[in-house]
Amino acid sequence: MKRTSHEQHYLLSAKARSFSLMDIARLADDEAWELFKEARWPEGVACPKCDHKEHYWLGTRKQWRCKCCKHTFSVTSGSIFSNHKLPLNTYLMAIALYSNCAKGMSALQLSRDLNVQYKTAFVLSHKMRESLMDAQTAKLDDEVEIDAAYVNGHVRPANHIANRVDRRKKENQDPNKRAVLVLRERHENEGEGGFKTVTAIAKAETEESVEAFVARHVEPGTTISADESNAYNSLHAKFKMERVNHSVEYVAKCGANTNQAESFFSRFRRMQLGQVHRFGNLYLDRYANEAAYREDTRRKSNGAIFADVIGRCGAAKVSREFCGYWQGNKKQAETLI
Ligand SMILES: [Zn+2]
Repeated sequence: MKRTSHEQHYLLSAKARSFSLMDIARLADDEAWELFKEARWPEGVACPKCDHKEHYWLGTRKQWRCKCCKHTFSVTSGSIFSNHKLPLNTYLMAIALYSNCAKGMSALQLSRDLNVQYKTAFVLSHKMRESLMDAQTAKLDDEVEIDAAYVNGHVRPANHIANRVDRRKKENQDPNKRAVLVLRERHENEGEGGFKTVTAIAKAETEESVEAFVARHVEPGTTISADESNAYNSLHAKFKMERVNHSVEYVAKCGANTNQAESFFSRFRRMQLGQVHRFGNLYLDRYANEAAYREDTRRKSNGAIFADVIGRCGAAKVSREFCGYWQGNKKQAETLI
């Protein structure tokens, strides 16, 4: 089906309730190019350098030249897929596979599905994760839940009882242990669950890390629900607090609960155990944010998620952390609150 340039691709339209991988696989090169262009610039092609909207079209090279700054750019220039080596179709397929996996996807599986090298799939999936990170600037208000869970801290007990140590003591714990903190705003319609989720990584669930996290994301006047952990005690000075004691009950008599935050951790754990297996601390913030994105989009059609992720991949700037990854340009330090 031929479309005129101003018509929206059906995969991007609100009517696209779902799509199949076959739809993507059947796209010819120029259709994949068109789809990517529309997702990247829904308001019309704009220069990635100066955002100017007037340009010359260099047809034979499939590029534009900005009338303002004279910058020459292609459909992927300045996006996370700039200098791409694979056909655009393969990237769209990667986004489609990634959007369809409600519990995340391992790089190994992606490499098998796309028939690309493992390292290509690894960088690709991290670039997609990176494009979702803008959710981390969100401000939450109204009713918010906070919770934390530990990862990478499991110390296997020694075989013989005589060799076992007290794993509760700090000196016997794994130094890689990290706390994943989550804040979720509840939907105003009861029953719709959480809908805006932010995450952060800390060395431990403490008053200091919790205060820094809350200060970054929570508006004054918000009601915060938390469990009985001492880390949340200092929040009483600034916010209206609802507490639930999980060793006694999951929903307090007053209705206080952290069920939406628990729901996030449930998905996060299934992503860890079932797909990614190992959450390295270097990129732990990315995995936590990915689980948050998937949790927040759980009621959207896969077509809508697909369109959203392509839009983000197009809008995201060249990946600083994964540009030239295999030439030695690696992220140096983990991101802690
Ligand atoms: Zn320009």
